[in-house]
Amino acid sequence: MAIKMKNISILGSTGSIGTQTLDIVKQFPDEFKVVGLTTNKNIDLLRQQINEFKPAAVAVMDKTKANELMNFTSTQVYSGIQGLNKIAALNEADTVVNSLVGSVGIEPTYNAARNKKNIALANKETLVAAGSAIINEIKKNDVKLMPIDSEHSAIFQCLNGENINDVNKITLTCSGGPFRNHSREQFEDVTASDALKHPTWNMGAKITIDSATLMNKGFEVLETHWLYGIDYKKIKIVIHPQSVIHSLVEFNDRSVIAQLGLPNMRIPIQYALTYPGRFTNMQASLDLAKIKTLDFKDPDFDMFPCLNYAYEAGIKGGTLPAVMNAANEAAVHAFLDNKIRFLDIPRLIRKMMDEHNIIKNPGLNDILSIDKNIKEKTKNIIEEEITIIK
Ligand code: MN
Repeated sequence: MAIKMKNISILGSTGSIGTQTLDIVKQFPDEFKVVGLTTNKNIDLLRQQINEFKPAAVAVMDKTKANELMNFTSTQVYSGIQGLNKIAALNEADTVVNSLVGSVGIEPTYNAARNKKNIALANKETLVAAGSAIINEIKKNDVKLMPIDSEHSAIFQCLNGENINDVNKITLTCSGGPFRNHSREQFEDVTASDALKHPTWNMGAKITIDSATLMNKGFEVLETHWLYGIDYKKIKIVIHPQSVIHSLVEFNDRSVIAQLGLPNMRIPIQYALTYPGRFTNMQASLDLAKIKTLDFKDPDFDMFPCLNYAYEAGIKGGTLPAVMNAANEAAVHAFLDNKIRFLDIPRLIRKMMDEHNIIKNPGLNDILSIDKNIKEKTKNIIEEEITIIK
């Protein structure tokens, strides 16, 4: 099906989702044009992308790196969070792919919606921390929000043409992460490099750690609630190590629709860009006889407490999900820096959630200031604890 040429800005174009998005764009030169790109600080790769895709403007989060890049390009270079917001609102763009990692992605999503851009969303923290503020802005501006995530893309496809009131439950599948068979004792000694070995998905460092704690699946529960307007009681999780069934929707008549495919992020990325059309690509085809077995089991909420925290944060609502998200982000970075242990991640999230007084109906600015405060508070606790141990 032919569609009108899309002009795309990609926030986080040098990361895992960003580079895969550019690969797809390259395969359909008559359909997609890149007009804006951003990086955190990888200006070497961004320079190559500027030469190849000739965007109208780019942004670099790191201001020193932005200045450095200006010496090498005549393309407009913006910097910092204002720079990301500029690219999110670029006149030339009709679609913004947000593949930023962390809560830095929240404000640009909001600005893209305010400026009437359709949004292809890979940034999880946007809906986890600021779901209500973002969805309000999306509705107010009547823009499309397409998920770039295998599970949410699956649910989106299963719900196509259906009424959400006819849904009995949505089941998110979960690979279980690298530690799905670990005992409690084994958890004590897990290192960042162990956690970075994900069995089925190849992703960036932050999301890989989130997949190991299952916080990532918890995030997806909140995203499902906001994306499809469904009650938390109706959102379930099943462990499915092969990652072939990407999620399932059961309707009130107990009929179930699932979406399947090989674990390959290019499929949901491409669909987010081509919806409602589908373009032929050269990706490997699913052969169930070759896969032979698909396994399923219930998640262990005791071993992976982050799942409980996510449901709790979602149901209590207000600013609590933003607190959970900020504490997680600070803790994951400390874990990646080998400053804390694996089990400290859920412990710190629990502590921050317990100490928080929930504010109901927060606006975007409330969310952003809570995000900043909780990250600082979590970092300070980590530093204090390190000092005590020394
Ligand atoms: Mn996912």
